[in-house]
Amino acid sequence: MRRQDLLDLNEALQHPGRTIEAEISTELSEEEDLDLVSPLEGSLTAVSTGNLLLISGRFRARVVVECARCSAPLEKDVEFELDEQFPVEGVPSSFNPREHAVVKAEEPYPLFEGNQLMVEALLRQWLIVSLPTQPLCDFGWDGPCPVAAQLLRRRQEAAETPFAALKKLLPPEDAQE
Ligand SMILES: [Zn+2]
Repeated sequence: MRRQDLLDLNEALQHPGRTIEAEISTELSEEEDLDLVSPLEGSLTAVSTGNLLLISGRFRARVVVECARCSAPLEKDVEFELDEQFPVEGVPSSFNPREHAVVKAEEPYPLFEGNQLMVEALLRQWLIVSLPTQPLCDFGWDGPCPVAAQLLRRRQEAAETPFAALKKLLPPEDAQE
């Protein structure tokens, strides 16, 4: 079955200098570690120099992240500009009809199937590195956040009674004969 997120870049690869543009909107539905409130939307541009395939784009999405202090869910707008280049081997078919230029991505994870770009795989990486690293809710690091206070209290209680906490991990006494 054909993957829905494959973008055929042969037009660009076989015609160096020709630009392909694609409007993209994706929910990245197979992602469990990303929680999108709105689809990831933007546009991708691809052009081949003959030796290099250049891909650029601009995307935005609204995502749910966790407050770094109290773990409250937060909605944040995320925007990023991507810029990638991949080596191309072979002669474009527009130069010689019996030849065929092929993109040779060297990433450790697959980004292409033949000359088709796996759009979601590429966008996923860029979105993940574009997420805010320490998002904070309205209380910030120092505000009177009730959830953060409760978390701290629970942590202190656990620290005061380490043996009580350990005991819970052991099997019941009568099972230890
Ligand atoms: Zn918070």
